[in-house]
Amino acid sequence: MIDFTKRQFKMREIRGVDTVVLVPGANLRYFTGLEFGLSERPILAFLGADGVALVLPELETPQLAAHPELSPRVFAWSDEAGYTGAFQAALRGLELTDKVLGIDSMTMRAGEYLALLAEAPLRVRRVEEALTAIRARKEPEEIGAIQAAVALSERALERLLPELAAGQSEREVAARLTALLEAEGSEGHAFGPLVQSGPNSALPHGAPSERRLGVGEPLLIDYGGRKYGYPADITRTLFIGEPEPELAHIFEVVSAANRAAVAAVKPGVPMQEVDRAARGVITAAGFGEHFIHRTGHGLGLEVHESVPQLAEGVEALLAPGMIMTIEPGVYLPGVGGVRLEDVVVVSETGAEVLTRLPHVLATGR
Ligand code: ZN
Ligand code: ZN
Repeated sequence: MIDFTKRQFKMREIRGVDTVVLVPGANLRYFTGLEFGLSERPILAFLGADGVALVLPELETPQLAAHPELSPRVFAWSDEAGYTGAFQAALRGLELTDKVLGIDSMTMRAGEYLALLAEAPLRVRRVEEALTAIRARKEPEEIGAIQAAVALSERALERLLPELAAGQSEREVAARLTALLEAEGSEGHAFGPLVQSGPNSALPHGAPSERRLGVGEPLLIDYGGRKYGYPADITRTLFIGEPEPELAHIFEVVSAANRAAVAAVKPGVPMQEVDRAARGVITAAGFGEHFIHRTGHGLGLEVHESVPQLAEGVEALLAPGMIMTIEPGVYLPGVGGVRLEDVVVVSETGAEVLTRLPHVLATGR
C-alpha cells in the first residue's frame, strides 16, 4: 500500500511556497494516487500543510470514492457553470489569494495558469525540479514495478526473436511486438515501439516505416511495456543473419560503452561521470562525433524523468534508489546505428541492472 501522506509530507521540503498546485499527470499520480487525464475540463489539486483540495468537474467526483484516505476539500464545477467560479472559490476558501503557489510549469498549461492569475494577485514559483528530486529516489514498490515491466518486456522480445525474418516491414514488427507485450501482461505500452532497420536505425528517434528488414542490416528496437503504472525502456540492436563488418565492430564498441557506464554507477558519483565512462569508450574507438545524445535518463512513472540525467555538466550525485537508463549509441548517417539500452538502479554500494537480456541476441531468418 502506497503511503501518499508520507509522499505529501516530503513536499514540505520545498522552500518558499505556501502550497503546490498540480494538474493531472505523473506528479498528481505520485503524490495523491489520482489518475485523471488532462482534458479541456481543467482539474487542479492544491497540496498544502492542510492536506489536499481539488477543483474538478462534477462528473469526475465519483472517482474520489476510490481514495478515501485523501479526504480532500472539493470545489466542483458543472459544465453549465464553467470552472472560473470554482477557481475563485478555491483560492478564497483556501486563503491563497495573496500567497505563493508552487507550480509544475512543464505540465500546467497556459490555460490553467492564466485562469488562476486572473482570479487573484498570486505569486508563482516553479517547483518541477523539486518535485522531480523527491520522485527520483524510488521506493521499493516502485523498483518492483519497474522490474516487473522490464521482465514482461523481455519475455515479449524473446518471443518476437524467432519470428523475425527479412522482408517484414518495420510497422509489422512494431505491431507484433505491441501484441506480444499485451500478451505478456503489459498495461498498454510505455510508448509506441521504435523499430528501425538499415539506414533508418541511424535516426535516434525515428518512427517505424514501411521499410522492409534486410539481411545483415541493423534492426534497432526501442520499446517498453508497463506494469502497475510503471514503464520499462529497453533498446536492443539485432541483425538478421551476419552483420555487416563495420556495424559488427560498432556493436562491440557500444556494448563496451554500456558496460563501462554501468560499472561507473555508484552512490555519490557525479551523474556526468557515467556519461564520461560511456563516451570515453566510444571516443577512443573513433566514433565520438556519432554519439549524439546523453548516456541516459531517469525512469519512473514517466519514461523520461530529468533526475538522474547522465550528461556532461550534470554534477549532481547519484543516490541509492535512483533508476535510470544507460543507452549509449553510435549513428552513422545513411549507414545505420547501434544503441543498447539497459535499466539500472543505484544500490547502496553500486548498481543493479534490471534488464537481463544479453546484448547479443540470436534472431530468426
Ligand atoms: Zn528507449
Ligand atoms: Zn530511454
